[in-house]
Amino acid sequence: MGKKFVSLTNLNFLLYDVHGLKEILNHHYYRHQDKQAVDLMIESAIKISEKYLLPFMSEMDKKPPELVNGEVVTHPKIAKLIKAMGDGGWFCASASLENGGMQIPLMVDTAANFVFQAANNGTYGFTGLNAGAANLILEFASTELKEEYVPKLHSGKWQGTMALTEPQAGSSLGDITSTAYSTGQDGIYKIKGQKVFISAGDYEHPENIVHMMLARIEGEPEGSKGISLFVVPKYRSEKKKLVSNDVKTAGIFHKMGQKATPTVHLAFGEKNNCFGYLVGDKNQGLNYMFKLMNEARISVGIGAAGMMSMAYYAALEYANERPQGRKIGDKEGEQINIIEHADIKRMLLKQKSILEGSLSLILQCANFADLVKTKEGDLRDHYQLLLDLLTPVVKTCPSERGIEAVSDALQCLGGYGYCEDFELEQLYRDIRITPIYEGTTGIQSLDLLGRKVLMENGKAMQLLAKEFEFAVRDARYYEELNDILPLFEDGAAELKKVTHHLLAFAMKNKLDRFLADATIYMELFGLVCLGWQWLKQGTVITEACRKNVENLENPFHLGKIQTMKYFFTYEFPRVKSLTETLMNDADLTLGTDKSWLE
Ligand SMILES: Cc1cc2nc3c(=O)[nH]c(=O)nc-3n(C[C@H](O)[C@H](O)[C@H](O)COP(=O)(O)OP(=O)(O)OC[C@H]3O[C@@H](n4cnc5c(N)ncnc54)[C@H](O)[C@@H]3O)c2cc1C
Repeated sequence: MGKKFVSLTNLNFLLYDVHGLKEILNHHYYRHQDKQAVDLMIESAIKISEKYLLPFMSEMDKKPPELVNGEVVTHPKIAKLIKAMGDGGWFCASASLENGGMQIPLMVDTAANFVFQAANNGTYGFTGLNAGAANLILEFASTELKEEYVPKLHSGKWQGTMALTEPQAGSSLGDITSTAYSTGQDGIYKIKGQKVFISAGDYEHPENIVHMMLARIEGEPEGSKGISLFVVPKYRSEKKKLVSNDVKTAGIFHKMGQKATPTVHLAFGEKNNCFGYLVGDKNQGLNYMFKLMNEARISVGIGAAGMMSMAYYAALEYANERPQGRKIGDKEGEQINIIEHADIKRMLLKQKSILEGSLSLILQCANFADLVKTKEGDLRDHYQLLLDLLTPVVKTCPSERGIEAVSDALQCLGGYGYCEDFELEQLYRDIRITPIYEGTTGIQSLDLLGRKVLMENGKAMQLLAKEFEFAVRDARYYEELNDILPLFEDGAAELKKVTHHLLAFAMKNKLDRFLADATIYMELFGLVCLGWQWLKQGTVITEACRKNVENLENPFHLGKIQTMKYFFTYEFPRVKSLTETLMNDADLTLGTDKSWLE
């Protein structure tokens, strides 16, 4: 590998040693794969990244897409990237063999996605949504739609999008006004409406663009109950030819970051000549779309971890090379590299602890997703509940904490970090979107506390508490972890206490009070989940050191132990202050009159 942007050693440690990829590969569903094949896939993801992504990260940021004479023009390398990804099978990596996919474990797909997003996150809008759109059609659409659209999306010849947001309906999708009018033909509707912020919603390279679009069939109920899902292509097929389907790009957004991907405003049916094809049953659109949204939400968390990774290795390299200052008390001595300063080490440890904790949490969720695929009956439901509970957390925690981590990476470079000469300035802008799209942090937090925690009378929370207990049980075996273990146990107990405290408001039907501090609850939840993942990593690494004492001199093992200690000493104590805030009786936010904010 040339410039370091991910750690393969860490990725393999998490995949195999912490999250048991070998056991997943032993399942007959994945019988056509083995460790060697997986290693080759990750290697190929790194090669594609080094050839098509990494070298163009800055250039794509500096030359963003433009709308020229009605056409969206992107960076010239985009077409090559998409071809390479399509040829490599990356748009159908986790799809089943019978659906033309590679049927690789989601853990491996997630690891590759992490590598791609670390190398150049700004292009994710093109590549990430393609696979999602194809999966959605495969799962819910008719055979005709599958045959027409899926192979083209899988190859990358056509681009998939997710067309949900409207000017007046962002977080609240129940308020969309895009309308589908019956044509009298089964499943075929005329579409009218506007969509904004559509990633990769139009550009010059693909033969076609396939919008997975939410609209309300005329006369169907208001709100989220009356929303249906349609395939609305830019070009529709008529007599075996592709003809314009009356989808116009009305504008392009000029964004703070992630500039490589065009984010566009689309007008559908201005000439009353736009056709949409109903996916599945009418009025089920939001339920279907949740499949794509859940995948996309996990991918946002992966992207945040990817950007943290790129930022961390850039900061580390700089800190190792930048001479500045002297050892404290050594006024006359030689200048030292900044990595020798305790404060720089603190910032690097912080980044490493958030990055590696987040990546572990993400792979934990991918592991649950693989278990959902490979188990049956109650066990399948068990892992699905865990995945449902953790999806908003795995979207939000790496995103929010990632901004802090990338900010600290930039800080390690001092003034140079603030300038365009280094990639930190771009990464700091790029990562800022992650708590916004795919449902803002506020919305994810309402989902976590208001829906997921309550699911099946709190069953998902009980399952998560069991997972915490398993981690504690495994760690208890090692006296090396005696100092860490009670810290985690206390944190898990605080989360339980706060959850009961807040649920009491829900029981009394004080729903606004129950949910008022949902975002702070999310912060606490995320922190405890990172603690869970650090305990698991600490247990595995301690066992590895016991098995082979030489590991006690291995920088990877020593670095893991030190980062775990840092996490529990510097980061985890925030559990206490968050708990204190969440247990308050002040009703401060609800009790604030809006005039007081003027
Ligand atoms: C770069 C980019 C790419 C995007 N890509 C896509 C895409 O491909 N497809 C697509 O459909 N959309 C896309 N979006 C849209 C994105 O998903 C929305 O911007 C996002 O869901 C928020 O909607 P909004 O911008 O209308 O904000 P609003 O919904 O107006 O939210 C504004 C603020 O109010 C808060 N808020 C809103 N409602 C509530 C509530 N009930 N309770 C508490 N707080 C609340 C929010 O948390 C937020 O802080 C993209 C956006 C961007 C910027």
